[in-house]
Amino acid sequence: MGDLGGKMIVVSNAEPYKHESKGDGETVCHEVEGGLTTAMNPQMRETGGVWIAYGRGNSDFEVVNSEGEVSVPDFPDVPKEKRYTLKRLDFPPERYEKFYRGYANRVLWPIFHSFPTKADLQLEGEFWSEGYLPCNKEYSRSVIDVYEPGDTVWVHDYHLALVPKLVKNEIPDARIGVFWHIPWPPWENFGKIPHRKRLLEGLAAADLIGLHLDKYADNLLRCAEKCGATFDLGSKSFKLGKEEAQVKAYPLGVDFEFFNGTETNGKELDIREKYRDKKLVLGVDRQDYTKGIPERIRAFKKFLRKYPGYREKIAMVQRTPTSRTGITEYDREKSEINRGVSEFNGNFGNHDWTPINLFWKGIPQRKLIAEYRAADVGLVTPGLDGMNLVSKEFIAANQKPKVLILSEFAGSAEQLDGAIHVNPYDSDQVARAIKQAIEMPEAEKEERWKGLRKQVKTEDLSSWSEKFLSDLEKAHRLGSTAEFTLFEDEPEEKQVIRRN
Ligand code: UDP
Repeated sequence: MGDLGGKMIVVSNAEPYKHESKGDGETVCHEVEGGLTTAMNPQMRETGGVWIAYGRGNSDFEVVNSEGEVSVPDFPDVPKEKRYTLKRLDFPPERYEKFYRGYANRVLWPIFHSFPTKADLQLEGEFWSEGYLPCNKEYSRSVIDVYEPGDTVWVHDYHLALVPKLVKNEIPDARIGVFWHIPWPPWENFGKIPHRKRLLEGLAAADLIGLHLDKYADNLLRCAEKCGATFDLGSKSFKLGKEEAQVKAYPLGVDFEFFNGTETNGKELDIREKYRDKKLVLGVDRQDYTKGIPERIRAFKKFLRKYPGYREKIAMVQRTPTSRTGITEYDREKSEINRGVSEFNGNFGNHDWTPINLFWKGIPQRKLIAEYRAADVGLVTPGLDGMNLVSKEFIAANQKPKVLILSEFAGSAEQLDGAIHVNPYDSDQVARAIKQAIEMPEAEKEERWKGLRKQVKTEDLSSWSEKFLSDLEKAHRLGSTAEFTLFEDEPEEKQVIRRN
């Protein structure tokens, strides 16, 4: 992971491993699914360091030491040198609610994904002062506690925009990078957030802010300008108050060798056996209104209505781990999906054929690889997605040529030219794309697949982190002129974070 000296300190809301009690007194360690943990976990296992995150497992705090730390993964077959320290934070439930379900997922997530009508801006101030700011302070305090000179702090995602500034207030020469895993919206959306300037002030204290795409980086710079920053589109940096940050695009990749080479012991054949000779169309997404699942299901229904010859010859598998339960928008969408699928299966299916097979359970990646390999067509149609790792994993897992149908609004569409690109809201177009995918001549399929695999293999996970960390080092050397500064409109005494 680059060679910056010192240790790596990763900070994120989601933890890479959780500990759960099995009920018989035994505690089991599980890998947590998700784009961010998928990205950082293999690297932390190589380099070691400290990962600071919120502890969400029901036995998480039974296995930690007095500092809240545990060495992970504590699987028996993993030697000590392949483990690292996970430092878990706990918050009072109400504060965490306002931070995570409130500010992060009812304000930032919908605004940054350009679904402003799903944002709860009425409660923004309360979520900020009683959730986002205090939790960001606690994360920062933990960073300061474990920090030693020479360390690198790598902050991840929209939950933690204030951490760079809060850490720099105490450690002015800290090397801090941020990777922003979601899109950065245009000013018309971002500007609606009452604490917009404070968010940017928090980020400006980082040496480098990475986003997936150039257009997100440009949006960030233009939003910063609207908030009073000077910015330079050429050198991709902005200065807000006394802080200056570089902003650049680093499209996140996947661990190609893992998806390409993992042995599944023929599990894909068992899956295929279940669907017999039917063509298999696969969708895999955490449940989220940005993932376009209802629209995808509508398009699949349209396909079967439009091309009745394919009835009983095709099945869709949609794997959708439930997420963010308790937020109305998510609960409502889940009911809508359930209703739509069961009505359709009831009307169209028969005892030999279930057209849409919906699974709400998440599975470990090793099992997911078998599903990727069992499928003929990957159907990845988010309404908007910062990157979308599933699209890349599907390619990396399949040495045999398949077809990928990909939303033009997935960040990965900018790299994956060989996919069939679709507008996920145009169900006729998606239905036609499914037909095109199934009927695609072998030679064309192979040609497209070769290009896609080359792309995913070249711009993989390790090249992503190497580029980011090397640029972070350069940005830090350039700009290590940080001064002790405060958020403009908050009294000094509320800002200071002391070492415990
Ligand atoms: N994933 C998983 N098990 C599942 C479904 C998904 O491990 O049952 C993983 C998948 O392999 C991918 C991540 O979850 O690495 C989802 O990342 P993506 O960028 O596609 O979407 P996000 O959930 O981060 O928005």
